[in-house]
Amino acid sequence: MKKINVITIDGPSASGKGSLSKEIANSFDFNLLDSGALYRLYAYLSNMSFTLNEIVGQIRKNVNFDLNDKELLINYLDNDITSDLRTEVIAKTASKLSSIKEVREALFNIQRNFYDGGVLVADGRDMGTVVFNDAKLKIFLTASSQERAKRRYLELQNRGQEVNMPALIADIEERDLKDSSRELSPLFPAEDAHIIDSSNLSLEEVFSITENLINKEFI
Ligand code: C5P
Repeated sequence: MKKINVITIDGPSASGKGSLSKEIANSFDFNLLDSGALYRLYAYLSNMSFTLNEIVGQIRKNVNFDLNDKELLINYLDNDITSDLRTEVIAKTASKLSSIKEVREALFNIQRNFYDGGVLVADGRDMGTVVFNDAKLKIFLTASSQERAKRRYLELQNRGQEVNMPALIADIEERDLKDSSRELSPLFPAEDAHIIDSSNLSLEEVFSITENLINKEFI
């Protein structure tokens, strides 16, 4: 299989994939695909009663992503809806909708189209196993559910959202179970993925491990 210039970063919720992907994209000036944001957008737009085809059209025409040095901003019709998408309610709806075959198929082409030949960092659940199974470098980032709940807690608190730790752990475990037991594109590491457990590692330490892998593969 011909390998393409993609770095896939898969893993469960709040494993640090998002922060790592942004750090890599910014440091190396690579493109970024946050596929979870597409599933969240799908959930957000389906709340507005658009049909599947209309949602795909809305995402293609009216959504743009803007990576600054801190975060990936998501704009819809020129409004910043990043915080609206980063709620647990949207995450739950996204998780539910993501098990529908037609939804996954509709988002497949949008995701593939993020690859334009330049190096792409693709963050998600099935980047290395399905969408970019032809990627040159695959990473599977994981961490204990307690540690992930702690990170999500801080993230939501920083966004000014009310959070309850036991409910957050329960939500994360429920979403993990759904994501890894669903029939279509379940969450699991690709055979050729490098597995990194970040439970006891800082973002800098995880970045340094991946930086070495990137230098070997791409530089
Ligand atoms: O990564 P994030 O938490 O933003 O993803 C939201 C939800 O979208 C996940 O819980 C998962 O169900 C779904 N998802 C997916 N496949 C991806 C990315 C996200 O099914 N590649």
